[in-house]
Amino acid sequence: MKDAKLTLKRTPDHQSIVRLNSQVTIGDRDIIVIGGPCAVENQAQLETIAAHLQGNIQALRGGVYKPRTSPYSFQGVGNEGLKTLTAVRDRTGLPVVTEVMAISQIEGMVAAGVDMLQVGSRNMQNFDLLKALGETQTPVLLKRGLSATLEEFIMAAEYIMAHGNPNVVLCERGIRSFDSYTRNVLDLGVVVALKQLTHLPVIVDPSHAAGRRELIAGLSRAAIACGADGLIIECHPEPDKAISDAQQTLSLPEMKALVESLKPIALGVGRSMPKAADIPLPKELVVAL
Ligand code: PEP
Ligand code: MN
Repeated sequence: MKDAKLTLKRTPDHQSIVRLNSQVTIGDRDIIVIGGPCAVENQAQLETIAAHLQGNIQALRGGVYKPRTSPYSFQGVGNEGLKTLTAVRDRTGLPVVTEVMAISQIEGMVAAGVDMLQVGSRNMQNFDLLKALGETQTPVLLKRGLSATLEEFIMAAEYIMAHGNPNVVLCERGIRSFDSYTRNVLDLGVVVALKQLTHLPVIVDPSHAAGRRELIAGLSRAAIACGADGLIIECHPEPDKAISDAQQTLSLPEMKALVESLKPIALGVGRSMPKAADIPLPKELVVAL
């Protein structure tokens, strides 16, 4: 890991800020919340989310190419979804994040003006993909591999940076373990360690970590409390009808309530939420904590 010369902090307060557009950055004082469906289904779905969560989320996520365990499961709407994503971005001003699975998809996504390219867990060590993303300047959301060590995660980020793209955000999304009650185990220890070791912004994906919607709000609050720079959370206007990952997907009112509950925690750890007001800690939250 001593090789990770571009990723590791040079001074204790070294912190990079990754910019998604003129308004939205990751890694400064404001916490960022990225919300949206696992998979883009249609334009109305994304516009409903944007309309209901205006002011609660700062970027919209949605996969158009989906890495599914089974080749017979829904694989995403493909290029058509890219047009849907950027049309919604142009109407709402919300930057959009989508997963890139292959080198051949990069050019079209960059040309369409996707604001952030997500490297999924299953591709964290696809070194050719990392090198190709290093040759763009588009921000990259690098998700931790299903069983990647801290060092492997950091070195994957180093690949992107070594090839010329400094705009890398790390994402802890849970790691494989023995208990199938949760889909994965959210490793908040790695979040604290990454914040200490690297200057890159670190966000948390509680949705793929938990795999169960009733755990998402608690894990989100814990992530912000331990120093994460933001969250990426799956939500849908009709969560039970989501084509993929329905069981871990929040409704829009649940998402709004979750974001509200983060505000006092962000303030407590010296951070702010965009448009943060001085909100007292709600009673039920004090008990839950
Ligand atoms: C996703 O974000 O929809 C996804 C597939 O995540 P991961 O790569 O972390 O499994
Ligand atoms: Mn998903």
